[in-house]
Amino acid sequence: MVGMTRAHMADPHIVQKIMAGQEDTIRPCVGATYCLDRIYQGGMALCIHNPSTGRESEQPHAIAPAPVAKKVVIVGAGPAGLEAARVAGERGHEVMVFEAAAQPGGQVLLTARTPRRREMIGIIDWRMAECTRLGVKFHFNTFAEAFDIVSEKADAIIIATGGLPTRDVLSEGNDLVVTAWDILSGDAKPGSQVLLYDDAGDHVAMQAAQMLADSGAKVEVMTPDRTFAPDVMGMNLVPYIRAMQARDVTFTVMWRLLAAERSGNRLRAVIGTDYGSQTRTAEYDQIVVNHGTQPLADIYFDLKPLSANLGAVDHEALVAGHPQPAGEGFALYRIGDAVAARNTHAAIYDALRLLRQV
Ligand code: SF4
Repeated sequence: MVGMTRAHMADPHIVQKIMAGQEDTIRPCVGATYCLDRIYQGGMALCIHNPSTGRESEQPHAIAPAPVAKKVVIVGAGPAGLEAARVAGERGHEVMVFEAAAQPGGQVLLTARTPRRREMIGIIDWRMAECTRLGVKFHFNTFAEAFDIVSEKADAIIIATGGLPTRDVLSEGNDLVVTAWDILSGDAKPGSQVLLYDDAGDHVAMQAAQMLADSGAKVEVMTPDRTFAPDVMGMNLVPYIRAMQARDVTFTVMWRLLAAERSGNRLRAVIGTDYGSQTRTAEYDQIVVNHGTQPLADIYFDLKPLSANLGAVDHEALVAGHPQPAGEGFALYRIGDAVAARNTHAAIYDALRLLRQV
């Protein structure tokens, strides 16, 4: 007996590809366990990086070639941008990707820094391999300006520039705190007594808390919500809690960080609640904020007035699976966290369903 359930959910053509000697093109299961979490919480067996799984009737696994080959320029090589490039390549389009960083991956690079989630980099590696096979051209270390993009004379421009973390949640002292991304990336050295304030409720907070705890810090995770990390579903929560309960980590729910101020060589947190007017203070040597990301979409707004569709998606066509309407000049779209902070699955799903209509 061979048990390969998740491998088949990530790529249902796995056996067919092996028989055809195309092992290199198999979409790998990256062990995210998003599938099991989505079964238990929502009832659909969805794969974190194959949005066709569970949606076969409206999003078939096979990508149909486009009736007319076009030129598609994509800005950003995170999960959304790379999926857009892959699907556009499968459609037979000429595809060019601009990326400001030296390597692809976007936020997945931070995710993969946690040893337990290291395999998530397969989301990026598989897409890069597929894009290479499909002839997609990449320009890394290239901060694309609107003029550069327009001069490519593309038929469609996809903005997949993602988002940047914001820490502007406090009435004062925003400059005294660091973000969870700073901890994950190594830009901020972990303190020894740390408040991790999380009002985003996603994996980033749990990863940063675990990384802080693993460094030996005493960590207090605080959220204004009545439960912490609501976006981290049951199966994924277990290893975080197992790791953190073995360390010096406590959880405080239903308290809101209002401000941070200096207190000698430490930081004083002013803490309030949404349920009353009382406040209290506590001292730490580091305050980390996880407040999600803000879209990084300046280039989209620069290009919007120049585009044929004024940057708009025809949502009725999108939902019905019909081609996006054509116009004079280039069509402009934005996808993934460049629209709003969501998760990896949402970013890839955005790209798949839009690009199969372009
Ligand atoms: S969600 Fe993750 S674990 Fe589940 S099939 Fe997809 S890649 Fe594998």
